[in-house]
Amino acid sequence: MLISLKTKRNLRGENVILSKEELLDAIAAEVVVCRKCELWKTRKNAVVGEGSPYSQIMLIGEAPGYWEDIKGKPFVGAAGKFLDTLLSEASLSRENVFIGNVLKCKPPKNREPLPNEIETCTPYLDKQIRVIQPKFIVTLGNHSTAYVFSKVALQFYGITRVHGKFHEASFLGMQVAIFPTFHPAAALYSGRYKELLLQDFRLLKHRLIDQRFNM
Ligand code: URA
Ligand code: SF4
Repeated sequence: MLISLKTKRNLRGENVILSKEELLDAIAAEVVVCRKCELWKTRKNAVVGEGSPYSQIMLIGEAPGYWEDIKGKPFVGAAGKFLDTLLSEASLSRENVFIGNVLKCKPPKNREPLPNEIETCTPYLDKQIRVIQPKFIVTLGNHSTAYVFSKVALQFYGITRVHGKFHEASFLGMQVAIFPTFHPAAALYSGRYKELLLQDFRLLKHRLIDQRFNM
């Protein structure tokens, strides 16, 4: 399925196709004023996601936490610091990936996302994926992996069973390799998860090298 090519009129009255930046900005404009689920009531800032609109690698987390809610940016707390380490382990950086979340607003007391919140919010994530058209989707943790697997009719047996493998799938009509791993926050309380995450990101690096990926 091709993304529908949205157009605007330029100053000469001609129809021109919107750029990826413009399409992502339009999604962001909807998200920051969204009141579709209860989470708008307690958020300070919605966290739309950020990175290169032209990246072929998208990372998907769960939901904003304390610092993300304050700053309006993804992964800026302690888990985010470790995510930076993981990205560099794969010879990547924040500038050449796009980082998004399943939920755009912080759940109170950092509780887990509720099924109805995921259902209500993920159309925004789907739209972002359609615009970016990544070749790789790295899902961080259970919720993100469960959501992405559900979209491609893959059975999800828990992150421990599926992490560190490339699951080729057709996502919204696009061919993608889904690469699940643990949530970076897991590394903050367990050395074992830290090591597994580092291993997974090394695997990702090798796959990107094998495919002569332009990083
Ligand atoms: N955890 C997430 O899943 N996403 C963020 O943006 C920050 C922490
Ligand atoms: Fe809207 Fe998503 Fe925020 Fe709920 S979490 S208010 S659906 S942007």
